[in-house]
Order: sequence, then structure tokens, then C-alpha cells
Amino acid sequence: AATAGGTTKDAKVPTVILTIGMAGSGKTTFLQRLNSHLRTQKHVPYVLNLDPAVNKLPFGANIDIRDTIDYKQVMKDYTLGPNGAILTSLNLFTTKFDQVLEFVDKRAAELDYVIVDTPGQIEIFTWSASGAIITDSLAATYPTVLAYIIDTPRTAGPATFMSNMLYACSILYKTKLPFILVFNKTDVTPHDFAVEWMSDFEAFQRALMQDTSYMSSLMNSMSLVLDEFYENLNYCGLSAVTGAGFDDFMAQVAKARDEYYAEY
Ligand code: GDP
Ligand code: MG
Repeated sequence: AATAGGTTKDAKVPTVILTIGMAGSGKTTFLQRLNSHLRTQKHVPYVLNLDPAVNKLPFGANIDIRDTIDYKQVMKDYTLGPNGAILTSLNLFTTKFDQVLEFVDKRAAELDYVIVDTPGQIEIFTWSASGAIITDSLAATYPTVLAYIIDTPRTAGPATFMSNMLYACSILYKTKLPFILVFNKTDVTPHDFAVEWMSDFEAFQRALMQDTSYMSSLMNSMSLVLDEFYENLNYCGLSAVTGAGFDDFMAQVAKARDEYYAEY
């Protein structure tokens, strides 16, 4: 709702940045850095923590699943293991998600961003009904961008790279939301290899062949699928620890959002 130079004060529409990624990829650290990055730019975000099992949150959350749901108690009450308890906690929280949206809505006019952290294990959010309900209800209310966080050092081998990309690809097709591949931990391993593999199909196939000593037709076909996935895909490299690359990330967010939500 941006009317440049208009005298009427249009209500702002915040952009939701939903963080997903494998356990240990750096989602929580990324959200901490993003929170402080936005604050220094006077874009105070609204912060949602959806991870019931995080011990210590390194940022202040406006809404924290742990405030209403005690995941250790859920383990006892439902005799569940840790993963089952995290999923059940998310389910319980999702039944009240309309209230969460009301809280956000009250503040929406003064917000530029709503940033969301999700449970450590990716599938608890991406392959659960609750995760889908939360994602869909956010995306139905505000322009929503997925930030898929990648542990760059652990994805530097061609086979792991391919499986991580296929996972990202499956989420993109499942959610159909604007999507950014975020190569994190570039302070440890720069993401140049990823840029090369995404832009030069043959370079990736050569690396894959060296890695596995053969190139099965399945791998060949999968890398062809990925080549299609990379087209029009937004990506960036950053370090959640040093803060390098966050300006580029925010540019990617604006680009992904504007391409997708042309009306905003
Ligand atoms: P999550 O499970 O995805 O929420 O991951 P965390 O944010 O808890 O991070 C997992 C580990 O990766 C922690 O030890 C972090 O300190 C580390 N980490 C996260 N981001 C970075 C980064 O940009 N660089 C480095 N070197 N380590 C990072
Ligand atoms: Mg986390």
C-alpha cells in the first residue's frame, strides 16, 4: 500500500519473513541478527517464536510459543518423546493461531516486518498440518516470504548440496510462496561454489561425477530438475554471526515479495 509522496497516510502492510531450514542451519542465530539489523535501520520487527523446545532465545519475542505451552509438560501429559512433544506443542498452539494474528493485526499499521522462527527440526514445521495452517494463514493475511536457511559448510559436497536443494525445491512447490535460499555461515565457507553450481549446470555435473565416481541417470535427471528450480530463484550468502550479507538479504526479500505480490 505504498503511495509515494501521497498526503494520505496509508496503513502499512508488514512483510512476513518465515525462517525454515535443517536443524543447526542457523535459523535462530539468523533471526537474532535479522532482528538487530532491522532495528538499527528503524524497522522494528514483530517477532514470533514457534520453537517450543529452544532453551534460551537470543532475542526478545513479541509472541513466544513457550509462554503458553510447556513442551516438557506436553511430553509427560501425552507420554511423548521430544519430537512428538514438539509437534503436539505446535498443534496446540495452532488452535490459537487466530489470536496470534489478532495481536499482529493490532500492531500491523506500524510494522514493516514480522519475523518468525520455527522448530529446529525442519519437517516438524514443513511436513505437519500445523505448519501448513500457520504458513497459509500468515500468507493469506500478509505478503509472506520464506527464508530457507542453508548450512553452507555442511552443504559443500555435491551430493549433500543436491539433497538440500531437492528439499528446498519440494518446499517451494508445496507452499508456492516467494522463496529465498539463504547460504548461511559464509564466515566459515563462502558460498561461491553454490553460485557456480546453480549457474553452471555442467560444472555441477562435473563435481557430482568426481564425488560419486559415477553419474547415475537418476542423479542426472535430478540435477536437471534443479536446473529448472534455480531459474528465477532468489538467493544470497550471509553470516548470521558476523552480520555480513544482510543488506543483500533484505534486497532479496523486497525483490521476491514484489515479484510475487505485485499489488503491494
Ligand atoms: P537452528 O537450529 O537452525 O536454529 O540453528 P542455531 O541458530 O541454533 O545455530 C546452530 C549452530 O550454528 C550454533 O552453534 C550457531 O552458533 C552456529 N551458527 C549459526 N549461524 C552461524 C554463522 O553464520 N556462522 C557460524 N560460524 N556459525 C553459525
Ligand atoms: Mg533454532
